[in-house]
Parts: sequence; structure tokens; C-alpha cells
Amino acid sequence: MTGTTATATGTAAGDTASRVLVLNSGSSSVKYQLLDMRDSSRLAAGLVERIGEQTSRLVHTPLGGGGGDKRERTGPIADHAAALKAVAEELAADGLGLDSPELAAIGHRVVHGGLRFSAPTVIDDAVLAEIERLVPVAPLHNPANLTGIRTAMDLRPDLPQIAVFDTAFHTTMPESAARYAIDVETADAHRIRRYGFHGTSHAYVSRETAKLLGKAPEEVNVIVLHLGNGASASAVKGGRCVDTSMGLTPLEGLVMGTRSGDIDPAVTFHLKRVAGMSTDEIDVLLNKRSGLVGLCGDNDMREIRRRIDEGDERALLAFDIYIHRLRKYIGAYYAVLGRVDAVAFTAGVGENAAPVREAAIAGLEELGLAVDADLNSVRSEKARLISPEYARVAVAVVPTDEELEIATQSYALVRGVNA
Ligand code: ADP
Repeated sequence: MTGTTATATGTAAGDTASRVLVLNSGSSSVKYQLLDMRDSSRLAAGLVERIGEQTSRLVHTPLGGGGGDKRERTGPIADHAAALKAVAEELAADGLGLDSPELAAIGHRVVHGGLRFSAPTVIDDAVLAEIERLVPVAPLHNPANLTGIRTAMDLRPDLPQIAVFDTAFHTTMPESAARYAIDVETADAHRIRRYGFHGTSHAYVSRETAKLLGKAPEEVNVIVLHLGNGASASAVKGGRCVDTSMGLTPLEGLVMGTRSGDIDPAVTFHLKRVAGMSTDEIDVLLNKRSGLVGLCGDNDMREIRRRIDEGDERALLAFDIYIHRLRKYIGAYYAVLGRVDAVAFTAGVGENAAPVREAAIAGLEELGLAVDADLNSVRSEKARLISPEYARVAVAVVPTDEELEIATQSYALVRGVNA
């Protein structure tokens, strides 16, 4: 069941089919995009949120052929099946129905693929069972992903359904980076190791960074900084991930919007013994009430910068702690890689927050790293360099596109070519 790059034999779509529907199913939401892989263009995109509540909402945006007005539905959508049916209706209204022979595959984002899945995989019963087996290590995400997959399979049982795993890109990490230094038998019995997440983004951004440098991915070493609400760093050597900051779960590593990132594990014993908190309460504290929001009450970097400009000291301290951790990872991954060709910033904060990029790189000239203030202040949706010409290491802003990456990998699998 190791991830396969073979063609989805027997289920391959017709030769002319070029569309891929990408589904990202959360516990109460479904995000979707329909892409045409002939030119990687987007035909439609949307989101269903608050599934199962009275106030569910579907927002659908037609994007093909000059686009069209955004459409919105509100009112109860009972479950994922109803959500996907509503999405199918919206797509059909644009002439993009899911029953179309143009549809080549449905690509699903799956958060945890454990060690077994190192590549996009055609979903069958055995794959479903393995994703289910991984629920204990991804209790929030994998059940929702499974619901989305099963719903889509009911809708189009004849179509290749492809799982693209957040963990897959990190399966190349050596044992020295992937293992925690704890008792090996205990770790193995409970599958405790560092898996890493955001892999689809790290894969896409590291490849796009190589492209920006005019090189093949095999030729370059890149530190990717995916700074969204969740945040992670990775060290990518010649196109392969050799270390990443998230671990068994997405809690480890950088300071995030609401997660603490790295912390002495003894803090949890202390909270239990001294503060009398339960395991669930500590889980919520570290995942939802920590990071930037825990430090200053806000997790939106725009708001934090606004408060800093007004002289707010708590916001400034939160920013400084965020940057300090980020710089530690840049230094660590510099050492892991030995030679660095580029540092790439991506996701909401990385793509938009010039002060974060400036502060993360400031004073690192000895490492060949510098940011040009003018280039850094340019706002653009394109991949671009922000380092001065003299700098030995390129610093880049590379917008991530996880949906395109999922569609590309899914399409390559059904067409039997390498992504
Ligand atoms: P996720 O996918 O993890 O939810 P995103 O990658 O969309 O997150 O990033 C969301 C975060 O990006 C916001 O919480 C905010 O901190 C930051 N962000 C978005 N736009 C800007 C901006 N213009 N300037 C600074 N930060 C921004």
C-alpha cells in the first residue's frame, strides 16, 4: 500500500477528461476548487461552512470564461453529503456538473498519511482502512477527510478518487530528524515520530522557488517558511524534505496563530500536577489559546502590527517571540542543509507581512542572507525575489497553491505521468 505513482489502471478517466475537483473536507466545512489541467486554470471555487448547523453557508465563485458573480446560499446543510450535493448543483448551474465526462478525478486533501503514504494514492477500501487506522494520530482531521472521501465516492463511484497527503512530502526525512529521542519500543508501539504537515505546500513552494532561480529542484537547497495561521518550516535538499518543524501533530515547531509550537513537555506535567488541568484542557490551551493569541489576544498579524504601531507592548512582545523562534529555525535548517540557495516565505503571513520577513532575516548577512527594503515592500501575487543582487542566498516570496498542487498530483496519477 506504499504510495504509488502507477496509473490508476482500470479506473483511468477518458483521454479527453482534463478537469480535477479538489476537495478539502474539514469537520464542519468543505473547500473546493475545480481546475482544468490543460492549462491549470481554475473553473470554480467555493466553500461550504458550518455544516450541520442552522446557519450553514455555501459561497460559490465561478472563475472560468471570464468568471461570474459570486453566489451564496444560507440555511441548514445537514451533513457532508448534503454539502457536496449543493456544490454539485452550483457547479452544474455553471455547466460544470460532476457527471461531466470532462471530470478526470477528484483529489482529496488528507492530513495524515502516516509512514505508508509517500505519494498521491488512488483510494480503495484498503486505503480507506489505513486512513481510518491513523485517526488516533490525527483525531481532528482524518475523520473529516474520510467523510469527504466517502461522500464523493458515493456521488461518483466510477471516478478515480485520489488522496494527497499533507505528510507525504516529509516521508523522506532521515530517521535522525524523524525520531524523537524517547524509548524506541514505546515510540514504535504507538507510532510516535515526527511526521510533519503542510507537505503539499512545502513541496509546491520548494519547486516553485527552484523555478524562480532558473534551476531544477534537484539542484537547490531551500528553507521553506510556511507562515499561515498554522505555521511550519522545512529544510528541502535537492527537492527532498530532510527536516520539518511540525511533529507527531501540528503543535510542534514555530509560534503559530493559536498554537504554542515548541515547548518543554514538562510544562504539561506541571499544568496537570500544579494547576490541576485535565489532558483535554491542556490540549485546548496549547492548540487554541497559545501562540500569538495567547501572548497578546490577537492572531492576525495585521492587527498585531497595527497595535505595535500604536505602541502596544504586549503585541510587540508577541511579535518578538514569534520572530525569535522563526530565526532559530532558519539557523537550525541552515546547519541541517549545510548550503542554502534560498529561503522562501509563503502562506498568509509569509506572503503578506513584510515586517515579519524583514525581522526574520535582519542581521544575517554573515550567512549570506539579506532583504532589500524596496523589493520587500512590493505587494504582488507572483513569486518574487526580495534579496539584493549581491546576496549569496536568495530570499523569495512564493505564494503557495495547495489546490493546484493537489490537482497536479492527482491528474498526473490518473494520467500515469510524474507530477
Ligand atoms: P491558514 O490557511 O493557516 O488558515 P493563511 O495562510 O490563510 O492561514 O494565513 C492567515 C493569516 O495570514 C492571518 O491570520 C493573518 O495573520 C495573515 N495575513 C493575511 N493577510 C495579511 C496581510 N495583508 N498582512 C499581514 N498578515 C496577513
